[in-house]
Amino acid sequence: MQAIERFAQYLSKHGLKMTRERRALIDHVLSVRGHFDVDDLLGRLRKAGHGVSRATLYRNLPRLVDSGLIHKVEMARGQARYELMLGRHHHDHMICLGCGTILEFESPEVERIQEVVCRRKKFVMTGHSHQIRGYCESCASVGSSPGSAGRRR
Ligand SMILES: [Zn+2]
Ligand SMILES: [Zn+2]
Ligand SMILES: [Zn+2]
Repeated sequence: MQAIERFAQYLSKHGLKMTRERRALIDHVLSVRGHFDVDDLLGRLRKAGHGVSRATLYRNLPRLVDSGLIHKVEMARGQARYELMLGRHHHDHMICLGCGTILEFESPEVERIQEVVCRRKKFVMTGHSHQIRGYCESCASVGSSPGSAGRRR
């Protein structure tokens, strides 16, 4: 199914309409590669001449997440980045608190253990996002050098 149809279906299921703003939003989300934040998306929309407000994005991005078309990656200090999940395999993330780099990983072992843990709790998992916070290789080596401020959470 096309992403736009899928989002339209999701909207109608929730009593919402595919407005011109939402259509512009999804068109632009579909064209972004990698992990993007609200400012990136707002910049793209404005550049293309769409008068979309930040509030519109904050209202509609959770709907795109809920519809399964995009995935939200929680960053440090309450920030978030998003990525298109269409045509992509499930993967999880490591987030560097130093430079904001996002590393992707896929681990069958981690996936399996999560399922085992859920079964044990009789919990029916419908999805998950596993995020590891810490420091990437280059930030970790800066943090461990003498005289640095040290690592913060
Ligand atoms: Zn996973
Ligand atoms: Zn880093
Ligand atoms: Zn990713």
